[in-house]
This record gives sequence, structure tokens and C-alpha cells, in this order.
Amino acid sequence: MTDPTGEFSDRIVVVTGASQGIGAATALAFAQAGATVVAGCPALESERHRQAVADWREAAGLSAERVAPITADVSQVEEVTQFYDTVKKHFGRVDVLVNNAGINRDHTLAKMTDEEWRAVLAVNLDGTFFNCRGVLPLIVEKGRIINISSMVAQTGNFGVANYAASKAGILGLTKSLALELAPRGITVNAVCPGFIDTDMTKGIPDDILQGYLERIPLGRAGLPEDVAATVLFLASPGAGYLTGQSLGVNGGLYTGD
Ligand code: NAP
Repeated sequence: MTDPTGEFSDRIVVVTGASQGIGAATALAFAQAGATVVAGCPALESERHRQAVADWREAAGLSAERVAPITADVSQVEEVTQFYDTVKKHFGRVDVLVNNAGINRDHTLAKMTDEEWRAVLAVNLDGTFFNCRGVLPLIVEKGRIINISSMVAQTGNFGVANYAASKAGILGLTKSLALELAPRGITVNAVCPGFIDTDMTKGIPDDILQGYLERIPLGRAGLPEDVAATVLFLASPGAGYLTGQSLGVNGGLYTGD
């Protein structure tokens, strides 16, 4: 259910890649805390995505006014421009942007194709850039930008050079944009999830998966809701003096910065 007096009531929150996984959990948590959520979905399969958003919205008992699916492939600058034109027309402003949309195309570097490299950089890094730039004319003073990076940006991992490079790029973008937007009171931070139980991690072979799980000090895989809670904290008034940072949500798997 929605809390009309919730912490985010009257806030307009954009979450990209909100049809499932971490994006859906984050969008849902914001909506339950009173926000009006723009649920970004890739344009190519918009009907499937619209249905996916409607499914989690209805399951949570939220009204259609609370969650608006709007389509844009984040890797396509024209679609992102159109996306913010639509957001401006319907909502007039943005309070919080969560850059969550992401893909992986894993291969060791020796076997990685140009297409796999470019596709991952295009969605994860270009997409974050296009959305950060696109939201600038609309985001309010003291607004929040939260970019979903990854623990592998901090540690690297076998077979994910394209993904790790894209997520490390997001950390550099986050720090630089934090400095550029500080005069407007807008904070820009990153979240670095570790191993989170979503479709993205479902393809991991069982033996490798077991190895990951055994190494997590908190003894379990992360849930999309664990990441969502951190994103909501970063968007909350209490996090107003926190900018240019990256927060790990990894069950203790990596304890560096
Ligand atoms: P997921 O379940 O695969 O969800 C990814 C979402 O992004 C989906 O809604 C997807 O739609 C959307 N998306 C993909 N390409 C897009 C595009 N070009 N334009 C717009 N939307 C697009 O993955 P997840 O695990 O929730 O991941 C969410 C974010 O967390 C990603 O940035 C991921 O890199 C990051 N992350 C995940 C983990 C983990 O362990 N799961 C760890 C660290 C970081 P479609 O499914 O239709 O493509």
C-alpha cells in the first residue's frame, strides 16, 4: 500500500530498467513511500515491459497514477531525449533519478566480441550519461541522482571486463557530476551491489554460484530490496550531505572503498 504521508510524497522519481529485479524493487519502494514513479522500460518491447510494471504495481495495491511506465532504450540518445520531453510534459520536474538499467554479456576478454563490448558499454555507461544529461534541465534544487554501479567495478571479476569497465566508468562519472552539481545542492552517488538474486545472476552455473555464496560473510545472496533500501536512503533528507560516494551493498563480500 502507499503511504500518502510517506517520506517521498509529492516527489517525482525516475527509475530506469524498472520492469523487474532491482529496478522494480526500487520503484516499488519509492511508490510505497509516497512518490510518483516514472518506470523506465526499453522501447523495443514496451508492451511486455508495461505489463511487467502493471503486474508489480497491481500486486502491491498501487494505483496507476502512482507508477507511470515510459519507454526509452537508454543506449539511444534520441529515445532518452524523447523520454525526458514526456516526463516534462506530464510531471514538469524530477526530484530523484535512479540510473538502474543495465545488461551483462559475459566472456573472457580473449573471446569477447566487439558487439559484446559495445552493447554493455552502450547500455550501462552511455545510458547513465544520457540520462544524467537529459535530466539536468528538469531536476530540482537539492535533487538526487543515484547510479547503480557494481562491486565488480571495485574488484574486477573473471569474464566481465566489459561489464566491470562500464561500471567503473559510472563511478568516475558519479564523482565528477557530484562536483558539477554541488552548487545546486544536487547530490550524485553510486550504489555498488554485490551478488543480488535477480534474472541477471540466474545464468551463473551452480558450482560457481555456490562458491560466491560461501564467500559472502552475511551468509546469503542479496535481495533487490536490499539495494532498494540503500537507494531510498541516498534519496532521503538524511543523506543530504553525502555526495560523490559509492555505497557497497554486498553482504561484506568486499569491504574496501
Ligand atoms: P535485470 O533483472 O536484468 O534487470 C535489468 C533491467 O534493465 C530490466 O528491466 C531490463 O529490461 C532493463 N534494461 C536492459 N537494457 C535496457 C535498455 N537498453 N534500456 C532500458 N532498460 C534496459 O538486472 P538486475 O540484476 O535487476 O540489475 C539492475 C542493475 O543492477 C543493473 O545496472 C546491474 O548491472 C546492476 N547490478 C546487478 C547485480 C546483481 O547481482 N543482480 C550486481 C551488481 C549490479 P529487459 O530485461 O527487458 O532488458
